[in-house]
Amino acid sequence: MLNLRHMKKSIIVVLFLIVLAGLVFWAVRNKQLDSKNVDHNKLQVVTSFYPLYFFATVIGGDKAWVTNIVPAGAEPHDYEPTSGDLVRLKNSRLIVLNGGGLETWQDNIRKNINPEKTAIIVAGEDLITQQIAEDGQTGIDPHVWLAPSLAEKMVDKIAQGFFQADPTNKNYYENNAETLKNKLAQLDAQYENGLSNCAKKDIITSHSAFGYLATAYGLNQVSIAGLSPDAEPSPSQLAAVAKFAKDNSVKYIFFESLASPKLASTLAIEVGAQTLVLNPLEGLTAEEEADGKNYLTVMQDNLTNLETALQCIN
Ligand SMILES: [Zn+2]
Repeated sequence: MLNLRHMKKSIIVVLFLIVLAGLVFWAVRNKQLDSKNVDHNKLQVVTSFYPLYFFATVIGGDKAWVTNIVPAGAEPHDYEPTSGDLVRLKNSRLIVLNGGGLETWQDNIRKNINPEKTAIIVAGEDLITQQIAEDGQTGIDPHVWLAPSLAEKMVDKIAQGFFQADPTNKNYYENNAETLKNKLAQLDAQYENGLSNCAKKDIITSHSAFGYLATAYGLNQVSIAGLSPDAEPSPSQLAAVAKFAKDNSVKYIFFESLASPKLASTLAIEVGAQTLVLNPLEGLTAEEEADGKNYLTVMQDNLTNLETALQCIN
């Protein structure tokens, strides 16, 4: 009896030691990963989500260490920063946000940031001018990055943040920003040309992300869900979109890589249309990242799919 009790005790001690060893290994590994992942010699920049991350990495080049709050495969509408994110934000020299209600957590950050140490840039400020009306409700439309001409202005704003946070390297950041703005101007010209001679102008999208793009190139956006990819459309909203698609002989329904394509494909079957991707660039999937996709290549893919759906002739 005594022996059995002794054995049980030994097993518990051994199990405890195994768990402890595992925890120590995990902690050391995390610490190694962290110190490997952060280059403290470079300007620490934190962006809230993908398009801002892309613009900041190009402007910052090899003089900045840019990290992103919303991880790959997630979208920013309902994202809440983790405690690790808050530490990174606090330790950074420059924070780049979009504005327009996408970063509902920004007030909390501002309270905890030392403005003498950390500059905060709201890249969409003054550019966010449109509203979205869905199911009788109106909201601010934050999706300015999807119009290349507005993205150019965002790049200007973000560059200002770099000058402020690291004035010594101003020329370097300025040159990178100019190169990026030229690419965005080229993209704008390609959209202008590509969408200038099309049989149709109606785009049915998953959520209302393409309002600024539609305004820039004279398109008409109708969305299945509302302002956020996770918003559930009401049956009457779905019926109205289906009626619109039938009345206007819409041949393609767009879906997004980060949200479920179910609603888009159900609608497409109902109205006898096909589906195509129109990517709102709120984040890249892990697969898109692995394929080397970025803001510029995805915007090219979007243009190709728009030209197909709208039957454009070049
Ligand atoms: Zn969105």
